[in-house]
Amino acid sequence: MRIIDNIDLKIPDNIGRQFLTRLMGGKLNPQLEKLLEEKTKICREIITPKAIYDTFPIEKVENSSVYFKSGNIFNSPNISKILKGSEIAVIFIFTLGNKIDLITKEVNESGDTLSTIVMDAITTSMLDPLGDYVGNIIKKDTIKEKGWGSTCTYSPGQFKWTIEEQKEIFKMIDGNKIGVKLNKSMLMIPFKSISGVYGFGPEDKIDKTRVSCDLCPRQNCIGRR
Ligand code: SF4
Repeated sequence: MRIIDNIDLKIPDNIGRQFLTRLMGGKLNPQLEKLLEEKTKICREIITPKAIYDTFPIEKVENSSVYFKSGNIFNSPNISKILKGSEIAVIFIFTLGNKIDLITKEVNESGDTLSTIVMDAITTSMLDPLGDYVGNIIKKDTIKEKGWGSTCTYSPGQFKWTIEEQKEIFKMIDGNKIGVKLNKSMLMIPFKSISGVYGFGPEDKIDKTRVSCDLCPRQNCIGRR
C-alpha cells in the first residue's frame, strides 16, 4: 500500500471553464467570468490532494465477476471486460480533501447558488489533473516488466458497475488513511474524491478500451472525454 501526500498539483489556468461553459449552455456571462476567476483562486488555496493505492493479483475473471487472490470479488460486466487479460489490478482512492466540502457547504447555505455551481464546476474539473497525476505514478510504479501495459481506469458508479461495489473497494483500501470514508449511500466523503481500478498485464492481452466514457451510453454528458 502506498500513500501519496503533499501533492503539488499543476492546475491549468482555465480549470473549470470548459465544464462550466457546457453547463451554462455554451456561453459565460460577465458575472460568471468574474466568479470563475474569484473562486478558482479560493479553490486552488484550499485543496489538499492525497491518494492511496495498493496492488492485488487477479486469480480469474469469469462471466461478470473478477476474483482476486486476496478473496475479494468485483461483480460487473464492465469491470470484468476491463480486467480480462490483466494479471494484477491497482485499486486507488484520491481526494481533493475536506476543506472544499466545508467551504462549498457554507457558500450554499448562504444562498449563493451561482457561486456554489461555479465552485462545483472548478473542483469537479480539478479531479481530472489529479487523476492523471496519480495514474502516472501508479503506472510508473507498477509497470516493471517489459511488454506490460495498463488498462483505462474504471470506477464504481460508472456504467454497469454499481455504486454498492464501493464497499469492496473500501475493504481492499483503507480510505481513512487519507481522510476518505463512505456514507450510507455509498458516496465518498469528502465528495470530491474518486475511487477506481487499473488493470495491468501483457500489452497483447489486456483490454484496450481507451477511456471509461467509451463504454458509457450517455452521449450528451458534459464530462464526456
Ligand atoms: S460519459 Fe459522462 S457519465 Fe459516462 S463515463 Fe463519461 S463522464 Fe461518466
